[in-house]
Parts: sequence; C-alpha cells; structure tokens
Amino acid sequence: MEIAFSRLDERVAKFTLSGVSTSFANMLRRAMASEVPTLAIEDVRIYDNTSVLFDEMLAHRLGLIPLRTNLETYKPRSECSCEGAGCDACTATYTLSVEGPKMVYSSDLIPQDPDTAPAEEDIPIIELAKDQKIVLGAYAVVGTGKAHAKWQATTACGYKNYPVITIDARCDGCGMCIDECPRDILEVAQGRVRVVEGRRELCSLCRLCERACLAGGIGTEAAIRISTDDERFIFVVESDGSMPVREIIERALQYIQKSSDDLIDVMNEITGEGTE
Ligand code: SF4
Ligand code: SF4
Ligand SMILES: [Zn+2]
Repeated sequence: MEIAFSRLDERVAKFTLSGVSTSFANMLRRAMASEVPTLAIEDVRIYDNTSVLFDEMLAHRLGLIPLRTNLETYKPRSECSCEGAGCDACTATYTLSVEGPKMVYSSDLIPQDPDTAPAEEDIPIIELAKDQKIVLGAYAVVGTGKAHAKWQATTACGYKNYPVITIDARCDGCGMCIDECPRDILEVAQGRVRVVEGRRELCSLCRLCERACLAGGIGTEAAIRISTDDERFIFVVESDGSMPVREIIERALQYIQKSSDDLIDVMNEITGEGTE
C-alpha cells in the first residue's frame, strides 16, 4: 500500500492511495466521515427566545456549527468517569446572549473553554429585529457522524478511481478529442494525442473523448480509451474546521486498525488461540 499527497494543509487533503481494494478505499472514506469523533452542541437551555425561530429550530442550527475539538481534552460521555452526567472532561459549555437589531453569528456563541470555539466566526444563525432577544446556554458533547451528521468532521470526503488513458497507434492527431475534453487533459505532440503532464488526475472519466474519436469515423473502437486502475484511488478530504484534516485521516486509520484488532481478538476467543 502506498499513499502520496498532492495537497495537505490545515483544511484540505488530496492524496492517491495505491495497492488497495475498492472495499478498503470505501472503508477509509466511511471511517473518515462517520467514525472520527468531534464536539457538537447536543443540549440547549433556552432562557429567552423572542426571535422568529422556534426553540427547536434554533437548537438545530446551533448543533450544526462546527466546533474546534481537542480529543486529548474531551472524551465521549459514555467513556467519562461522570457516567453520562456531564462534566468538564466530556462537555463544553457556551452562552449566547444577543438582542436585535442584529445578525447573530457563530462568533456570538461564547465558549467557556476558548479551545472549543466555533471553527468559523461568521456562520449566520439568525437575524434579530429590534427588541427581539435570545438568551441561552448550550452544551456540546463528543459524538461521531454515524449517530448524526452534526458530529461529522468532514465537509467533503470522497474518492474516485485513478484514470487510465490509453491511446493506440491508429491516432492521427486530428484533435477532435482535445476539443471535446472539458478538463484540458489532452494535447497533440508529434502527430498523436497525449496526456498533458500533471493533468491525468483531473480526468473526470466522462469519456467524451472516446465519443469524439468515434464520431470522427475511426471505426467501431476509438483510438483513445478511458478505463480505471482498480487498485488506485484519488481521495479529496475537507475538514469542517473541528480538527486538522491530517488528524481526521490518522484517526480514521486508527479506527480501522482497532476494529481489525478487535475482530482478531474475537476470532481468537472463538478458536481458543492466544489463550492458555
Ligand atoms: S474522459 Fe473526459 S475528462 Fe477524461 S480525458 Fe476524456 S474527455 Fe477529458
Ligand atoms: S479523436 Fe481519436 S484520432 Fe483524433 S486525436 Fe483524438 S484519439 Fe487521435
Ligand atoms: Zn463527564
């Protein structure tokens, strides 16, 4: 297995994963989207709400705001020594006290622990008219995207098969496929078409080039053929800001490793191996 990053910054990672099956690629995608824990607002205590939104709608909107999450500090309530009652080790507390006229943004949500502030300051929550007011307390807990999308650490998380572009000797360099390609992947060189250096991964596998070649009357098979490498995948992962995208990838891989170890333990228990 090989992994090669073409982009890795705080929010976005683009990488090629080689030597794995489609099942493994999909397992990694699902683990990044559904198994990496983050903080999200789960309980809201509303003291005053004279806005146009129902309390439930307001709470729902607050729940969807991405919160910075340090998993060394916060753990799921189910694993906390408070046994689900809520304490500083499993619950982040916020207050919101605003009066109109005003556009209320995520930056108005004041965290007790600054390390759990909203990941973005300018997410609109609601516009308050004159004399409208909201006063509330909010409590965020650690969960995973498997339970609810509000705990999903990724905004985009997907992969596509690595494109394989083959051009055979019948190509006469007519350029019809080049005109048709929406991603500027192809060019003519020495009387034949070829892939522009560094643009292969941008191919969307739309196959318009094949159709253009066939339309030119080359016969029943196009001189250019688009297929995919079954063991190579291009991933794009975007963090919602709750944690660096690198941490999302690492935690997803750790989850896969732990799940595999757990499965081996269960198998050993059943077969009696590894025990005296
Ligand atoms: S499959 Fe589509 S994107 Fe890829 S080279 Fe052909 S026309 Fe361009
Ligand atoms: S349309 Fe066919 S023959 Fe013409 S340049 Fe493209 S691959 Fe070659
Ligand atoms: Zn606790």
